[in-house]
Amino acid sequence: MSTYLTSDSTNPLQNLEVPSSALAIGAHPDDIEFGCGGTLAKWAAKGCKIFHLVCTDGSKGTWDSNVDGAALATRRQQEQTEAARILGGTIPVTFLGWTDGELQSGMQQRAQIVRAIRRLKPEIVLAHDPWKRYRLHPDHRHAGFLATDGVVAARDPLFFPELGTHHRPSKMLLWEADDPDHEETIDEETFKVKLQALKAHASQYESTMGVNQLDDETQMIAFEERLRSRMTESALGQTGNLAEIFKLITKV
Ligand SMILES: [Zn+2]
Repeated sequence: MSTYLTSDSTNPLQNLEVPSSALAIGAHPDDIEFGCGGTLAKWAAKGCKIFHLVCTDGSKGTWDSNVDGAALATRRQQEQTEAARILGGTIPVTFLGWTDGELQSGMQQRAQIVRAIRRLKPEIVLAHDPWKRYRLHPDHRHAGFLATDGVVAARDPLFFPELGTHHRPSKMLLWEADDPDHEETIDEETFKVKLQALKAHASQYESTMGVNQLDDETQMIAFEERLRSRMTESALGQTGNLAEIFKLITKV
């Protein structure tokens, strides 16, 4: 068995050893909390340094056509910072600030990811799976490619030599995985931390959590139950586990 796996041979692709540092790269404020918030909270509680990088400003994340995009972007930065704090992440969050819905995965954006990876030197990078089939939102696809292409460029010294000393993360975990093969189990206490972090994204209650009254406790409980059953049903290992699932990439 490889050294990065636990000794639990019944679930060989479960629960990495807690890394010393992890960088999560998301397209919008809240993607990281949905994709890997439980894993980050679990690791942070065990001493892992957690970094958030958010590619877009989230300025179009609403169903209300009267909302001012600039004001929404400001609000979402605050929400994302609070969510990162709840998970035990390092503040400040890195915001690249690209316009929501218009993210590209070109060289300019890749350089920004390389700069962040070389500065933060994460042991593990977590990101959207860019190869998820039939996913429509282009920002998620581009953010995924920025993460995978950024890791390749950050690890080799002749790529972007002007951006500092090269750094090779040891692994990647891709959420929304097209072909998931790894799970991180989440205990009840950590599930509550993920839930609190998601609730920090109050501007997204209606569009992503199905809650249209901020003070409606019944709707919040229903959201919690949906999240709980999604995390239980998606588990790859023992039934009944709460888990976040990923594609694990070890050849970085
Ligand atoms: Zn998103």
